[in-house]
Amino acid sequence: MTNVAAVDGGRPLRLTPLRFHIPLIEDDDVAAVSETLRSGWLTTGETTRKFEAAIAEFCGVPHALAVNSGTAALHLALEAVGVGSGDEVLLPTYTFAATGEVVSYLNAIPVLVDCDGDGFNMSLEDARRRLTPRTKAIIIVHIAGLPCDLPAFAAFAQEAGISLIEDAAHSLPGAYDGAGVGQISDAAALSFYATKNITTGEGGMLLTRRKDVAERARIMCLHGISKDAWKRYTQEGSWRYDILSAGFKYNLTDIASALGLSQLAKSAHMLGRRSAIAARYDAAFSSIRGLMVPPRDTRALHSWHLYILRVLEDQLTVGRDRFLEALKAEGILGSVHFIPLHMHSHYMKSLGVKEGDFPNAERHFRGAMSLPLYPKMSDTDVSDVIAAVLKLVDIYRR
Ligand SMILES: *Cc1c(COP(=O)(O)O)cnc(C)c1O
Repeated sequence: MTNVAAVDGGRPLRLTPLRFHIPLIEDDDVAAVSETLRSGWLTTGETTRKFEAAIAEFCGVPHALAVNSGTAALHLALEAVGVGSGDEVLLPTYTFAATGEVVSYLNAIPVLVDCDGDGFNMSLEDARRRLTPRTKAIIIVHIAGLPCDLPAFAAFAQEAGISLIEDAAHSLPGAYDGAGVGQISDAAALSFYATKNITTGEGGMLLTRRKDVAERARIMCLHGISKDAWKRYTQEGSWRYDILSAGFKYNLTDIASALGLSQLAKSAHMLGRRSAIAARYDAAFSSIRGLMVPPRDTRALHSWHLYILRVLEDQLTVGRDRFLEALKAEGILGSVHFIPLHMHSHYMKSLGVKEGDFPNAERHFRGAMSLPLYPKMSDTDVSDVIAAVLKLVDIYRR
């Protein structure tokens, strides 16, 4: 019977489970990678330089540096703006592990900031309260692809004399009040991880309008050795190099960049699909008691990386965890983004933070449930997600 949840012994809505994410890899992507494999040049080279130029143009930012993860891009950005031992860096508690760990790589101190009252993004007021003379930088995260108020954060950073870094892992593309990701901050980090809006399997890109930041990051991303070290096995290059600093091994391969270029070519199509699916979810869920649809902002260009629906436990007989389990039994795989950093044992131990310290983040997290949202979903897949969520809300409403 349809009014019994599959988790309680009813018939599941879908027999073949719908995966949480499947990347859109088509024949042109496979051909691009194959061509690189046959070319005789696998690691960082001309294809990577082309990928950087294409992303720089797409984002309207003068400098782009391809690296092997979004985390690497964040690390290089912080290093290049001069974050070092003992400096404080403001960052949201509502984010993924990467945003916090890069601060520790540099022996700097993460200072966690709460969310807005009604959205997942960082509260500017709370950031302002946590500013000290030791604050060196602030990292903002455009959660789910909804950009933070970039002009407001840029003004705050300038006033405070600190650097503004964007964790733009969810934002390809992204803009707020016409200010694009990477255009008015000191640097922005994109991610091309397998689940992100475009993927290279693993990969990332540092965007910056600052020539000095771009130059420092380019040197540090390949062992701290002098410029264009990758050319040393080409005709133009030479075997001679100089180590300028103790750098990192963060360069992106041409194999990955070939995939990035073919993915970028279809990013407008993919964004169109993501937005259309998000609009269908909003239409289905926005007036349903027990659910809260994700925030929108008319001034923001949303990339719809994630659709984070909130389950309101005071209006339902089950909480988010049980709801997700029930959804899985119906054949729909959801996920949760993110467990706030201050609720993890490492941060509790190292920063002395605890549950209760960031009430907005905790409230958002309690109900947060990410639904499948990717261009490869069919219209029927989207209908199944909607039907399963509505079925469960009907069963579990108080
Ligand atoms: C995915 C992600 C990253 C890091 O990306 P990688 O490419 O996997 O290193 C950083 N921040 C956030 C918020 C992310 O979701």
